[in-house]
Amino acid sequence: MTRRQFIRLLGWVVFLGMVGLGTLAGCQRTGVGPNEAEASRVPVVASIAPLADLVRQVGGERVTVTLMVPPNISPHHYEPTAQQMEAVSRAKLMVLNGAGLEFWAPDVIRAAQNPNLKVIELAEGLPRKGDNPHLWLNPVVMMTYTDRVAQALSEVDPAGKAIYEANAAAYKADLQALDKDIRAALAGVPDRKVVTLHPAWEYFADEYGLEVVAVIQPTPAKEPSPAEVAAIIDLMRAEGVRVIIVESQMPPHIAQSIAQETGAQLVYMDPIGGVPPRETYIKMMRWNVNELVKALGAGASP
Ligand SMILES: [Zn+2]
Repeated sequence: MTRRQFIRLLGWVVFLGMVGLGTLAGCQRTGVGPNEAEASRVPVVASIAPLADLVRQVGGERVTVTLMVPPNISPHHYEPTAQQMEAVSRAKLMVLNGAGLEFWAPDVIRAAQNPNLKVIELAEGLPRKGDNPHLWLNPVVMMTYTDRVAQALSEVDPAGKAIYEANAAAYKADLQALDKDIRAALAGVPDRKVVTLHPAWEYFADEYGLEVVAVIQPTPAKEPSPAEVAAIIDLMRAEGVRVIIVESQMPPHIAQSIAQETGAQLVYMDPIGGVPPRETYIKMMRWNVNELVKALGAGASP
């Protein structure tokens, strides 16, 4: 049995176990308990941790969110479990980033056979850099995402519209504060050149005036050739790039050898979060900016 098959089997075991427990709880239930409070919530599935967090911020107590892609794996290589499939079959709303990130979504939606499922792609119609899906890493874009989540939740749960709109307004104020703090943190950083392992930070870089001089691995599944690596090393030397941004969801060995050749520093920035101390999007972005500023040399700050 492969690991993938094992995970699938595990998913079914968990699912059947839940069905069994649910039946048992149904027999014993008296009055209104926490189970019913939970059952009356709007079931939502979200593809990646930053979007699951966004749905929780906007939906508050009215929603229950199932995350599809676990925080520790790359969303570019993901296969849903049977348990997650079951969540999609019961959900009222599926929140996707779109822009090609959720390559698995069409199959999952078809297999779930859920006529009550509304599917939204938050990046739909927004300005895009080629086929790069990482729009969520720009907090200004997240403000638009927030409005779109509030609107979608209001459509599947009209009774909650006023709450969703109020929560969205409060969350956008938090994003505005985040945006202001990022600008302030980077204002004192004269060195703005970076190389990244993965093209995750293009939208962030555009918003905050960083220069991504090169991307080591533009396609997640395809490692660069020795000639491509040599060209990046030459470019980094010519441009004086001292920082390579890597992420824990991808193996860093090529970035490590480039860093050794060039004397550049590896900086881990997390595009997914979902784990302490980066469990929310805002915590994740603050953590990332702090790591970046440290690496780029905030030595100028008092
Ligand atoms: Zn990515």
